[in-house]
Amino acid sequence: MATSERWKLFQESCKKELGRRLPEFSRLESDEERAKFCLALDCWDGDTLTKLIEKLQSLKGKVGKSTEKANHLRDKGNAAYKAQKFQEAFTLYTDSISYSPVTHVNDDNGTECLSLALANRSAVLFHLQEYKLCLQDIQASIDSGYPENLQYKLLHRKVQALFKLGKKDDAKKEVKGTLEAIEKADIPEDRKEAMRKELKLAGRNISKQEEGKEGEESAEEVKVPKLQYGESQQVAHASGGVEMREEEDKGRMLVAQKAFEPGSVLIVEQPYAAVLLQKHHSTHCHTCVTPVLVPHPCRGCQYVQYCSGTCEEQAWREYHSYECEHWHLLQMVETFAQLSLRLLLTAAARGEKHPSADMESPATASKPSDQAKLCTDKVSPTSDGAKTVQIDSETGSTSEQPGDLSVQTDVIEENPPSAGMESPTTADKPSDQNKLCTDDLSSTSEEAKTDSETESTLEQASNMSQAESTPEQASNLSVKTDSVQNSMQDVELHRGNYSSVYNLMTHTEHHSVEQLLTQMMVSCLMCKCLGVDMCVEVVKKLGLEGGNCTGATEGGGCGENKEGGDCAKSEEGVVCVEKMAALLCHHMQQLRCNAQAITTLQEQDSVSLLEDKQVRLATAVFPTEALLNHSCRPNVFVSFQGKTLIVRAVSHIKPGEELLHCYGPHAGRMVYGERQAALKEQYFFSCSCDACQEQVGNPNTVDMFSAYKCPVCNNAAKLQDKKLVCTSPNCDAQGDTDDIKTTSKKIQDLFVQSSAFLEEGQIQEAVSGLKQCLVLQWKILHPSNKDIARTHDALARCYATSGDCKKSVEHLKKSLSTVELQFGACSVELAHELHKLAQLQFNGQQVAECLDTIERALTIFGCHYGDHHPKSKELRAMKDCLIDVLV
Ligand SMILES: [Zn+2]
Ligand SMILES: [Zn+2]
Ligand SMILES: [Zn+2]
Ligand SMILES: [Zn+2]
Repeated sequence: MATSERWKLFQESCKKELGRRLPEFSRLESDEERAKFCLALDCWDGDTLTKLIEKLQSLKGKVGKSTEKANHLRDKGNAAYKAQKFQEAFTLYTDSISYSPVTHVNDDNGTECLSLALANRSAVLFHLQEYKLCLQDIQASIDSGYPENLQYKLLHRKVQALFKLGKKDDAKKEVKGTLEAIEKADIPEDRKEAMRKELKLAGRNISKQEEGKEGEESAEEVKVPKLQYGESQQVAHASGGVEMREEEDKGRMLVAQKAFEPGSVLIVEQPYAAVLLQKHHSTHCHTCVTPVLVPHPCRGCQYVQYCSGTCEEQAWREYHSYECEHWHLLQMVETFAQLSLRLLLTAAARGEKHPSADMESPATASKPSDQAKLCTDKVSPTSDGAKTVQIDSETGSTSEQPGDLSVQTDVIEENPPSAGMESPTTADKPSDQNKLCTDDLSSTSEEAKTDSETESTLEQASNMSQAESTPEQASNLSVKTDSVQNSMQDVELHRGNYSSVYNLMTHTEHHSVEQLLTQMMVSCLMCKCLGVDMCVEVVKKLGLEGGNCTGATEGGGCGENKEGGDCAKSEEGVVCVEKMAALLCHHMQQLRCNAQAITTLQEQDSVSLLEDKQVRLATAVFPTEALLNHSCRPNVFVSFQGKTLIVRAVSHIKPGEELLHCYGPHAGRMVYGERQAALKEQYFFSCSCDACQEQVGNPNTVDMFSAYKCPVCNNAAKLQDKKLVCTSPNCDAQGDTDDIKTTSKKIQDLFVQSSAFLEEGQIQEAVSGLKQCLVLQWKILHPSNKDIARTHDALARCYATSGDCKKSVEHLKKSLSTVELQFGACSVELAHELHKLAQLQFNGQQVAECLDTIERALTIFGCHYGDHHPKSKELRAMKDCLIDVLV
């Protein structure tokens, strides 16, 4: 049976467990208790799980390397190379490299296939004029033991490549050694002579191009922008003009201390950990998430590739040395589970401790009032954790799905009565929170259990979860006061380290019990497959000594060993597996609200006037960016350079103003109701941003970009209870909706049909269809409706394709003014429209207008992306060209 089938069976078996054990499970109060409970379930001895684990064990270490395959692929590559099919040869050599086992120079059994394939690929790269990459492969080939008697070939190529790159001095240094190697080589004298000649020529031909090349190279390096006002002492990776605050009803947030102009850089942050999405495995580097030109395969497995040895080093140093042999397991579980493990491995590798592991002076810990206050902050369900998943600007769909465990999708998700940040049950009753806190610190968990016994399962779950949302309880520490004290430091200082990650909100109270059980079962399964040794190692590195289990904690810790003292060796393993499973599950819960998609802009060809698409590359955790709260009308914008996240201001931000980022539901793209529903669904809160409050204060308003037209007074109207209702206070017209529905359908059909014509290049047909479309839209839609803009946009594309710049510009300007109304005058949406307009004006030789348009577009792109938007580059080139014409 395939792993995927066994995995399905496992998930079904989790569901079976749900029915029987759910009430019991829902009474548990911490991840560690839940881990203990799940690990003790009978089902691990059952057929399903035993076989799944056996299967995964049998796949462990099956890293896919094969000398036979590698040699076969290299032979095919050689054939392609001889036939001068360089691209094909490149692919074949690359595959050969990825299958080649890594061997060492002095390894008797070692095959040379890796070094040979690398050497051959360097020859292809030389032919493709990729000299820098060629040099990389040459070095890698020598490092992996290329036969010494053949090295003259590589050295010869190296000198030529260096000359081609204009690195004359470097090349000259190599010449002597190369000539010696050629001299010693076991080849005919005429061949030697030819090689010597080539070297001399290489030096001569290149000297003229020398300077130009080097300059070009450095221009391509993309620099990460500098933070406005330098780096904050309080919040790692944030501007010195920004501070972190914590408010009872809102949780943690970032607030401007100083004024920021649009375009100012507020945060520059590397992910704490990131997982490349599966569909990009073969095209992007697993570490730095950039497109890979010349794949550098993992030394251990055939499945993972990097852009360079440097990236491979980093991955191995931080997590891949553990992950490599477990690749089959990791590909079976979801991205969130993979990322959770990576967070732990990275923290362990960096020598960072779990927040509860830092023992500090007991001075602060002995002040109960402070503890209570802190606890209050932590207990209230805040929005600070509800973070960061961007919505694809094209489709409006959330780019990050909630941890899609297939079991969880089958379960009806119920929000506990207290769900949402505005819930009065928790946020508005500080006294209760204090009580909860005190319980948490002093009483035994038994009391909490009896309290909830009379309530329904669901309520138990929510109670349990509220308590659970204090990190100190989640980790079930033996010395709770220390962890409280540590969290207090974290309130003041956000270091962007593992503590910052660990303290992000879990929102456990919003996860259904079924979800929690499934997440915990996945965590336990992972721990069982990763093995006791790895769990012990990681847990110990995090400073959570499994062996020092004194049984001092209530109802948690090492149950069998209540008297205290050190646990036996095997028992240490048990405790560490429990702790590891608890930690994995803790992070899985956080990721739903705190994971951030790393995206890139996919360039579209410029003729068709299509917009750039945002493509999700990876899922990651950025602890500082995760502090940004949401607004449907945000004042900051998130973009990426590789995997570096950059947050810029997009409006004038005054001191004292909170920095707000849009998690997806933007007021320009979605109407009020849709936004509220989307935010509640994924992030568990009701939005009360400016845009939403305007709506609440005036329920009669309608989003103009989706409004209909009142048939009587032409003002905006909306569909309500199957009636068309005019929003003008002086008009009580109510229209029937049947007519509108029929017309809307006709419009939609016409648009789809015309777009198809446009795709096929039947411009006349497209134009005629779109014009009919416009007539119908004018009849029923308000002039500011975005569908009218869309039709104008399509007409602009038609005329652009047929070369009628003037008409194209006319239509595009109409679409542009709607976009400006909808998204605002500094929106990136408007910049895209301006870019299109500039292209048209450029082609139509409307020089002065074009220069104006370019300036506007450059300013807006600059605000959002700095200088690095691909369109900024293009716009600057157009500008230079126009200025040349003017001069
Ligand atoms: Zn890389
Ligand atoms: Zn690997
Ligand atoms: Zn809002
Ligand atoms: Zn009216």
